[in-house]
Amino acid sequence: MPKSFDRIPLLSPAPGTERHVALHRYGEPGARPKAYLQAAMHADELPGMLVAHHLVRLLDEADRDGRVRGEILLVPAANPIGLAQRVNGGLLGRFELDGGGNFNRAWPNLAEAVAERIAESLGTEAEANVERIRAAMRAALGEQTPTTELTSLKLALGRLACDADIVLDLHCDSDALVHVYMSSSLWPDGADLSAEVGSRVTLLSEPSGGDPFEEAWSSPWAALRRRFEGKPIPLACFSSTVELRGESDVEDHLAQHDAGALFRFLTRRHVIDGDPGPLPEAQCEATPLAGVDVIKAPAAGIVAYQKRLGERVKAGETIAELVDPAAEHAAEARRPIASRADGILFTRRQTRFVRPGEGVAKVAGTDPLSHRQGRLLED
Ligand SMILES: [Zn+2]
Repeated sequence: MPKSFDRIPLLSPAPGTERHVALHRYGEPGARPKAYLQAAMHADELPGMLVAHHLVRLLDEADRDGRVRGEILLVPAANPIGLAQRVNGGLLGRFELDGGGNFNRAWPNLAEAVAERIAESLGTEAEANVERIRAAMRAALGEQTPTTELTSLKLALGRLACDADIVLDLHCDSDALVHVYMSSSLWPDGADLSAEVGSRVTLLSEPSGGDPFEEAWSSPWAALRRRFEGKPIPLACFSSTVELRGESDVEDHLAQHDAGALFRFLTRRHVIDGDPGPLPEAQCEATPLAGVDVIKAPAAGIVAYQKRLGERVKAGETIAELVDPAAEHAAEARRPIASRADGILFTRRQTRFVRPGEGVAKVAGTDPLSHRQGRLLED
């Protein structure tokens, strides 16, 4: 079946206004493995959309050559609501402006709804259990009725992703190295993705505490496996958030490179037929998300970085100085901002003015930090 292109309408928020989600579909519906990829759920994170554009070219070619073995769904601009948020010439896109919060938080966890549906029917065959669980996930989302434009977006994307074998959510940070998030239970299975995209920091957690899109589709499997101990339930969905550097790293050569990596990953996972070639050497070991020091500004000011992305720092070492431009004496204008982790500096901020409590940088260490408890993701 040749590829198809659909536009899925969202619930209209006002007369005369209607948005839609664009969807590229490859392969026979129901073919396995099924991969779902989306970009720019945070609509201000542009690299993933350019990567998706290049990936469409590669997938179109594979489709023409009859190499699509499984099913691939690609949503290149996952958040048309956020993409329309312009204020005074700037694109926002991270938070819904009608009280919905961060677009990549509070995604549903289907474990409970699925458990109720399958408790009586689980058997001793893992494959049959996978089918039952996927059908229950589709049914749980299928019976929901969206009441707002935002819930219609979440429901539309969830229905596409919920029964996939592979879910990849493409994001970026402010100014960053390539890094990857996934659930701890998916490691070392996900080492191929980490190596293929050249991840410099691969972060594991279970759970991260913010219910991001990625976890909604993989974590029910781990939860159901714990709940129905003794019944064979595989971790049937591999999902990950891939952070494609920083907001300004929007270049064709980078996007082509990243699209090639994702295409090879899909080939290595047998979604596409062909030889992906040797797996590149891993750029990092996986480390705990709880080992990331999210360094916050102690006061307002200008951030003058003392360390570059990719530098290794020691706990207590200054990574930036905060400059109060309105201080009376220059000698008192600067205060150091230190890392509390030994590790690699992998994100900084583009906008160098901060308010108190705003993130300045992230340093990934190998050991969990005592102050990193509960919700591990920023908002
Ligand atoms: Zn993001």
